[in-house]
Amino acid sequence: MDQERYLGETTPKLGFGFMRLPKLEGGSFDIEQIKAMVDRFMDAGLTYFDTAYVYDKGGSERALKEALVDRYPRERFTVATKVNARVATSAEDARQQLATSLERTGAGYFDYYLLHAVQESNIGAYDEYGLWDFVREQKEAGTIRHWGFSFHGTPALLEELLTKHPDAEFVQLQINYADWEHPEVASRTVYEIARKHGKPVVIMEPVKGGMLANPIPQVQELLRAANPDASFASWAIRYAASLEGVITVLSGMSNLEQVDDNISYMRDFQPLSAEEQRVIGAAQEVFASMDSIPCTACRYCTDGCPMHIPIPSIFAARNKQTVWGLNEQAKKDYEEAAGVEGAGRADACIACGQCEAACPQHIHIIDALRDCAEAFEG
Ligand code: SF4
Ligand code: SF4
Repeated sequence: MDQERYLGETTPKLGFGFMRLPKLEGGSFDIEQIKAMVDRFMDAGLTYFDTAYVYDKGGSERALKEALVDRYPRERFTVATKVNARVATSAEDARQQLATSLERTGAGYFDYYLLHAVQESNIGAYDEYGLWDFVREQKEAGTIRHWGFSFHGTPALLEELLTKHPDAEFVQLQINYADWEHPEVASRTVYEIARKHGKPVVIMEPVKGGMLANPIPQVQELLRAANPDASFASWAIRYAASLEGVITVLSGMSNLEQVDDNISYMRDFQPLSAEEQRVIGAAQEVFASMDSIPCTACRYCTDGCPMHIPIPSIFAARNKQTVWGLNEQAKKDYEEAAGVEGAGRADACIACGQCEAACPQHIHIIDALRDCAEAFEG
């Protein structure tokens, strides 16, 4: 392998996220298609696979064994998986996840091992279960090669964690061009904090959960005018991969077509040119001008709500409607969040103000819920 200046520098810049695998009608994995997807990916010289203990209740790790580990020499690929404190009942239970992941995948060891989805609401569990020391011990023992964490919290928490755990070898961040300058999502800020601490970055959700594969019409026009042949997803993935210090960019591929599209521009990855960066800058301006609710889904507001209103989910549905124009999907999301037993709907708010006092984004939640009630209940 070439000399690396940072961990993962020579890793191919497209990683295969095993979180949205294709399924058959009955709900089981379409393992034959997954094998074909893995073959295309491997044939293109790509090597990085990302799964997690919790994906599909372990099904993702098992599919990885069947489609990859049992079919290719171990040295030809790298595997990342994750320990999840939120689903653990005790320190022992959390630590057991590593043994279970090893057994499910048959991988023998993990190249990358991550504390999963660390954020304000679960950091207490990661600390209490001693998982930071656990991954250090496992690295020492050789069960894992490198450890880091995937992160969904605020910039302040990332700064705190990287100061407290300077030996974390990398971080996995949600970065996409639409949210890069977003003042609350803060993609740019968390990326810059990671780089300031010298950490290489694995990028997740570069296509914003699939939304940038089919962006709003104004952005589609801009991207099409610049390059009619490039898929919308290609702009998003190449944007993320063009950042400095990136180990790889994960794409949660769901079918062969997506694998082929991703490979077409990532097999011989070229960073965005200055002109392409300018086009993305114009697209970012379009997103910045949209009127969205700046909720970061931190959920600080929900615990104390006497009406059990799923505030962040309702706001996400409303943003889908106003920013993305996805009316039907937004209504479905709203019903999924507010229609479950025990949850309050947007119009159940009694304006007690508890949530507004808790919201770090200073959102006028009562007014915003009124607007959501008009949109979804009216
Ligand atoms: S103001 Fe409304 S949404 Fe906020 S806590 Fe009170 S009832 Fe819940
Ligand atoms: S409304 Fe505010 S407190 Fe609630 S999830 Fe969104 S950002 Fe957090």
